[in-house]
Amino acid sequence: MPGLEDQLRRPVRGMRDITPEQYYALKKVEEGLSKVAEAFGYRRIETPAVEHFEVLARKAGREIVDEIYYFRDKAGRELGLRFDMTVPVARVLSYRLDEPKPVRWYYFTKVWRYDEPQHGRYREFHQFGVELVGSDSPRADAEVLALMAKSLEAVGVRDYVIKLNDRAAMDRMLASLGVGGSREEVLRALDKRGKVPDGEILEMLRRAGLDGATAEALMALISERRPGSEAPDFFSKYDRDLGERYSRIVKALDAYGVLGRFEVDLSIVRGLDYYTGLVFEAYAGEYRLAVGGGGRYDNLIELYSGVKTPALGFAIGVERLMEAAGIIRAERPLDYYIYPVTEDAFKTAVEVAEALRDKGASVAVDLGELTLREALERAAKTGVAYFVIIGRKELEKGVVRIRDMRKRVELEVELDRVRGGLASPYAP
Ligand code: AMP
Repeated sequence: MPGLEDQLRRPVRGMRDITPEQYYALKKVEEGLSKVAEAFGYRRIETPAVEHFEVLARKAGREIVDEIYYFRDKAGRELGLRFDMTVPVARVLSYRLDEPKPVRWYYFTKVWRYDEPQHGRYREFHQFGVELVGSDSPRADAEVLALMAKSLEAVGVRDYVIKLNDRAAMDRMLASLGVGGSREEVLRALDKRGKVPDGEILEMLRRAGLDGATAEALMALISERRPGSEAPDFFSKYDRDLGERYSRIVKALDAYGVLGRFEVDLSIVRGLDYYTGLVFEAYAGEYRLAVGGGGRYDNLIELYSGVKTPALGFAIGVERLMEAAGIIRAERPLDYYIYPVTEDAFKTAVEVAEALRDKGASVAVDLGELTLREALERAAKTGVAYFVIIGRKELEKGVVRIRDMRKRVELEVELDRVRGGLASPYAP
């Protein structure tokens, strides 16, 4: 039988199957990240994968619109898959206007982008992120930044840096260089820094209307790096109020004990048009691509609700984070494998299994197709902790035989004790 053709055996381009050993690694990361968000008082939100195309396109900006998975349903509605969670959150808040502010929400869910698949770039991936909506306070900026740092730490990333910049400062800088109308195009070009050769960026800047000298000057300016603690001084060069804002942000980051993780990096501009203030990206170890990014977008919520609402947030790319942190797979072996040797031992086997399951153990009962030896071999291979044998002899004696697969020892345990639900076969 030929079965599926080769290309149909693999998931659709840019998508990945998540088999159990990968799933449990993902779940562990999900638990770690959710715990941090919950500890900071954030609450989880989930929304449909499918949105009105118009809702998605309103925020997207030119580059992202092309990346939207777009389709019509059978009723002819124009729809799309969400490409991030900021848009669905903004949509939800547009009809929940009375949600007490500030709103602290987080998510861990799938998003879709019709990107060109390559290393670290998929068409279906998970994002974990937070949205802090309804506060303009520098403390809000610091809270979200600290939360990003703690999120990375929660999954065991020790070596990371969060690079930050400010769109308002960039505006001043571009104005001082005489860059006017093509601002968005310029920022989009700068966002490619490090992803494409500098020559290509210079070319993009020229296309955006900058002369050669201005483009070179801009490239030199954005090469600047400073420790995060110098952000207040640095940004006050562009605007005194901005300097003041960053001195409060820095103070708060210090209170969170994460200030040393931050770096001012003027090449961080973020591709999207809607950022209005702080922008940042996180890098982990040697991993070249950003594992996460975010910023302040004080005009975005208004696009949906009609009500001006300051907000900021971040999104971490979960697959990238896992790769950077070296979290690839996690086994979830069975606690018990129950092997009834004879037909009349099956009922007792099920009884034992149920008692153990009631105590929270993960238990499989043999289906009667493997010999004892085959079942033992498989149990050893898949990491089963205890192999339980119930044969005629055991039934007669009113016991079960439990083989500790790690210690390679066998013990007899009374059936009544097992029926009562064992915490461990060794418990008295
Ligand atoms: P963005 O808001 O576009 O910067 O996305 C936030 C994070 O999601 C990025 O820092 C990446 O870690 C991750 N990400 C973005 N696009 C992709 C993709 N196509 N595949 C995998 N991860 C992605």
